[in-house]
Amino acid sequence: MPTRATRRGSERQPFQADCDVLICGASFAGLAVARELAGTGASVLVVDRYEIGERQTSACAIPTPWLEAMQLMGSQRQSFDELVIHSPRGTGRYRLPWSFSTFDYRELCALLAAQGRFRFETAKVDGAATAGPAAGGTRPASTVHTDRGDIRAALVVDALGWRRVLGSGAPIQPPDAYLSRGLEVHPHGSGDDLEVWIDRDYVPAGYGWSFPAAGEVRVGVGSFDPRFHVKEPTVRLARDLDREAAGYQGNWIPHRIQEATERGIFFAGDSAGHCLPLTAEGIRTALYFGVACGRELADVITGRQTRAAALARYGAFSAAHRWQFEWMLRVQRLIPRVPPRVLGPAVIALSNRRFVRWSFDHYLAIAHPSFVAP
Ligand SMILES: Cc1cc2nc3c(=O)[nH]c(=O)nc-3n(C[C@H](O)[C@H](O)[C@H](O)COP(=O)(O)OP(=O)(O)OC[C@H]3O[C@@H](n4cnc5c(N)ncnc54)[C@H](O)[C@@H]3O)c2cc1C
Repeated sequence: MPTRATRRGSERQPFQADCDVLICGASFAGLAVARELAGTGASVLVVDRYEIGERQTSACAIPTPWLEAMQLMGSQRQSFDELVIHSPRGTGRYRLPWSFSTFDYRELCALLAAQGRFRFETAKVDGAATAGPAAGGTRPASTVHTDRGDIRAALVVDALGWRRVLGSGAPIQPPDAYLSRGLEVHPHGSGDDLEVWIDRDYVPAGYGWSFPAAGEVRVGVGSFDPRFHVKEPTVRLARDLDREAAGYQGNWIPHRIQEATERGIFFAGDSAGHCLPLTAEGIRTALYFGVACGRELADVITGRQTRAAALARYGAFSAAHRWQFEWMLRVQRLIPRVPPRVLGPAVIALSNRRFVRWSFDHYLAIAHPSFVAP
């Protein structure tokens, strides 16, 4: 369990702030936005209810080229040239055209935060921001309510994860929302393979995983159906792998892309549904859309475009990816319907080299690391 560093009680003083850019959420998406604003001279405030890197939100596996592109290799724990997919009727070893890496969440957040120039405060964001009248300028236009006071900012980013706290309308809560659920344990141990189980004995629609990370192994189960509880299968998968079910960590995972702008606010990462359906890979997409969002904001700060133009451009950028997310959602819905007698042979057949190269290169292209190039 991470130690709780966040200030509590009397140490948590009220504050009020006025800034150019307010970034709500200091995880992958929020810190990527902040990175792009370094050097613009903007006054940037980042808030999160926890200290940066305090709460790990995932199994922390990412295509290695993304760690390289973002200069985050210092957080890498292990790298894998193969993905091993198990089904009850066969195992396929997928030789990847690029490798996956596991990383340390706290270290990655620290490295990413160091690339930005911002003030950080722990605060819980409570409410919707109210859009002000200055649609075309950079003067303060929005107010965000937190448990420590109100913050006014010309540009506001919601990178708060699946709750989409600053979205309009009543938040749709699980299990009715387009959310998957994931839970994992982090026992000490080691391993050489990045492994996935597509096995209805564990989860009717979803998959299990075991991701080694030099000294610990992240073992979990994700269900595309939010009504299906994943604790028992997570514990069972850990037991089947002879691992201790220790160090629980879980969350909801959005599997449908949403509007990336609303009421003058920018949404990036899980808050915009930028997590890929089927694979539940949401780290590189949070970085990707965070970088895209940050670039639009930087152009507002430096006077190259208005806030309204940035909203329109970023919204269109995100929407241009909708077909890829919807396509993956269709596959996510299809796989649970494939009969087990077909699934096993398919898992093996699809591991042929040409298909793996073709499919994984297309998969990486959805949010390609070359986007980060200076
Ligand atoms: C069990 C599990 C395993 C996963 N494994 C992987 C994986 O291996 N690879 C991968 O690519 N994806 C994985 N994912 C998905 C991935 O974790 C998310 O897509 C990713 O974290 C999204 O990043 P984000 O920055 O948008 O949001 P988050 O990482 O969820 O960050 C949101 C931030 O906002 C803060 N916050 C939330 N609400 C408030 C509030 N009201 N006030 C203030 N702060 C607030 C949180 O503290 C947090 O720091 C996994 C998900 C789960 C649940």
